Amino acid sequence: MTSFKTVQTLTAAALLLTGCGLTEPNPGLPRGAEPMAATAEFDAWFAKTETCAGLTGSLQSVQWYVVKGVDTFETDQGPKVGMWERSGSGSVIVVAGNYRNHEMVIRHEMLHSLIGQSGHPAEYFVERCGLTWETWSGD
Ligand SMILES: [Zn+2]
Repeated sequence: MTSFKTVQTLTAAALLLTGCGLTEPNPGLPRGAEPMAATAEFDAWFAKTETCAGLTGSLQSVQWYVVKGVDTFETDQGPKVGMWERSGSGSVIVVAGNYRNHEMVIRHEMLHSLIGQSGHPAEYFVERCGLTWETWSGD
Protein backbone atom coordinates (compact mmCIF):
# COMPACT_ATOMS: atom_id res chain seq x y z
CA MET A 1 0.00 0.00 0.00
CA THR A 2 2.69 2.47 0.92
CA SER A 3 4.74 1.62 -2.15
CA PHE A 4 1.87 2.61 -4.47
CA LYS A 5 1.63 6.00 -2.79
CA THR A 6 5.39 6.52 -3.15
CA VAL A 7 5.24 5.80 -6.87
CA GLN A 8 2.42 8.31 -7.31
CA THR A 9 4.35 11.00 -5.48
CA LEU A 10 7.50 10.42 -7.48
CA THR A 11 5.59 10.55 -10.76
CA ALA A 12 3.95 13.82 -9.79
CA ALA A 13 7.32 15.30 -8.86
CA ALA A 14 8.86 14.16 -12.14
CA LEU A 15 6.02 15.72 -14.13
CA LEU A 16 6.40 19.00 -12.28
CA LEU A 17 10.13 19.15 -13.03
CA THR A 18 9.64 18.25 -16.68
CA GLY A 19 6.82 20.75 -17.14
CA CYS A 20 8.90 23.46 -15.52
CA GLY A 21 11.94 23.00 -17.71
CA LEU A 22 10.12 22.58 -20.97
CA THR A 23 7.27 25.03 -20.91
CA GLU A 24 8.32 28.10 -18.94
CA PRO A 25 10.46 30.63 -20.80
CA ASN A 26 13.63 31.79 -19.09
CA PRO A 27 12.29 34.75 -17.09
CA GLY A 28 15.44 36.82 -17.69
CA LEU A 29 15.36 36.63 -21.48
CA PRO A 30 13.31 38.74 -23.89
CA ARG A 31 10.68 37.04 -26.03
CA GLY A 32 12.20 35.32 -29.05
CA ALA A 33 15.77 35.18 -27.70
CA GLU A 34 17.77 32.23 -29.06
CA PRO A 35 21.28 31.08 -28.16
CA MET A 36 23.96 32.44 -30.52
CA ALA A 37 27.58 31.35 -30.95
CA ALA A 38 30.23 34.04 -30.54
CA THR A 39 31.82 34.74 -33.94
CA ALA A 40 35.56 34.89 -34.60
CA GLU A 41 35.27 38.68 -34.63
CA PHE A 42 34.11 38.64 -31.01
CA ASP A 43 37.57 37.52 -29.84
CA ALA A 44 39.20 40.60 -31.39
CA TRP A 45 36.45 42.91 -30.14
CA PHE A 46 36.74 41.51 -26.62
CA ALA A 47 40.53 42.01 -26.66
CA LYS A 48 40.09 45.64 -27.84
CA THR A 49 37.54 46.25 -25.09
CA GLU A 50 39.82 44.75 -22.42
CA THR A 51 42.60 47.03 -23.63
CA CYS A 52 40.62 50.29 -23.59
CA ALA A 53 39.03 49.47 -20.23
CA GLY A 54 42.30 48.30 -18.66
CA LEU A 55 40.46 45.22 -17.37
CA THR A 56 40.64 41.53 -18.11
CA GLY A 57 37.74 39.13 -18.31
CA SER A 58 36.64 35.88 -19.88
CA LEU A 59 34.74 35.84 -23.15
CA GLN A 60 33.94 32.20 -22.44
CA SER A 61 31.91 33.24 -19.40
CA VAL A 62 29.44 35.10 -21.64
CA GLN A 63 26.36 33.31 -22.94
CA TRP A 64 25.13 35.04 -26.11
CA TYR A 65 21.53 35.28 -27.26
CA VAL A 66 19.99 36.94 -30.32
CA VAL A 67 16.47 38.05 -31.15
CA LYS A 68 16.56 37.50 -34.90
CA GLY A 69 15.33 39.97 -37.50
CA VAL A 70 14.68 42.97 -35.26
CA ASP A 71 16.22 46.41 -34.60
CA THR A 72 15.14 46.34 -30.93
CA PHE A 73 13.54 43.93 -28.49
CA GLU A 74 11.25 44.66 -25.56
CA THR A 75 12.58 44.72 -21.98
CA ASP A 76 11.35 45.96 -18.61
CA GLN A 77 13.25 49.18 -19.38
CA GLY A 78 11.76 49.63 -22.86
CA PRO A 79 13.07 48.63 -26.31
CA LYS A 80 16.79 47.85 -26.53
CA VAL A 81 19.38 46.83 -29.13
CA GLY A 82 21.46 45.01 -26.51
CA MET A 83 21.17 43.85 -22.93
CA TRP A 84 23.60 42.53 -20.33
CA GLU A 85 22.80 40.57 -17.18
CA ARG A 86 24.90 38.84 -14.57
CA SER A 87 24.32 35.09 -14.60
CA GLY A 88 25.95 33.04 -11.87
CA SER A 89 29.70 33.51 -12.30
CA GLY A 90 29.31 34.80 -15.86
CA SER A 91 27.08 37.00 -18.00
CA VAL A 92 24.18 36.77 -20.39
CA ILE A 93 24.17 39.16 -23.35
CA VAL A 94 21.20 39.54 -25.68
CA VAL A 95 21.44 41.50 -28.94
CA ALA A 96 18.89 42.51 -31.56
CA GLY A 97 19.53 40.47 -34.70
CA ASN A 98 20.10 43.49 -36.93
CA TYR A 99 23.02 44.57 -34.70
CA ARG A 100 24.67 41.19 -34.10
CA ASN A 101 27.65 42.23 -36.28
CA HIS A 102 27.78 45.84 -35.07
CA GLU A 103 31.09 46.42 -33.30
CA MET A 104 29.87 49.17 -30.98
CA VAL A 105 26.76 47.30 -29.85
CA ILE A 106 28.65 44.07 -29.17
CA ARG A 107 31.59 45.80 -27.46
CA HIS A 108 29.23 47.99 -25.40
CA GLU A 109 27.70 44.83 -23.92
CA MET A 110 31.17 43.26 -23.51
CA LEU A 111 32.16 46.33 -21.48
CA HIS A 112 29.20 45.77 -19.14
CA SER A 113 30.52 42.24 -18.66
CA LEU A 114 34.05 43.50 -17.88
CA ILE A 115 32.96 46.11 -15.34
CA GLY A 116 30.29 43.78 -13.91
CA GLN A 117 27.45 46.29 -13.80
CA SER A 118 24.54 47.44 -15.96
CA GLY A 119 25.15 51.16 -15.35
CA HIS A 120 27.19 53.38 -17.70
CA PRO A 121 30.08 55.00 -15.81
CA ALA A 122 31.44 57.74 -18.09
CA GLU A 123 35.02 56.77 -17.25
CA TYR A 124 34.59 53.49 -19.12
CA PHE A 125 31.82 54.06 -21.67
CA VAL A 126 32.86 57.56 -22.74
CA GLU A 127 36.42 58.45 -21.77
CA ARG A 128 38.25 55.14 -22.02
CA CYS A 129 36.37 53.24 -24.73
CA GLY A 130 33.90 55.55 -26.52
CA LEU A 131 31.29 52.79 -26.60
CA THR A 132 28.07 54.83 -26.77
CA TRP A 133 26.15 56.02 -29.84
CA GLU A 134 27.29 59.57 -29.10
CA THR A 135 30.98 58.77 -28.75
CA TRP A 136 31.41 55.89 -31.21
CA SER A 137 33.87 56.86 -33.92
CA GLY A 138 33.82 53.60 -35.89
CA ASP A 139 31.18 52.62 -38.40
ZN1 LIG B 1 24.59 49.62 -21.78
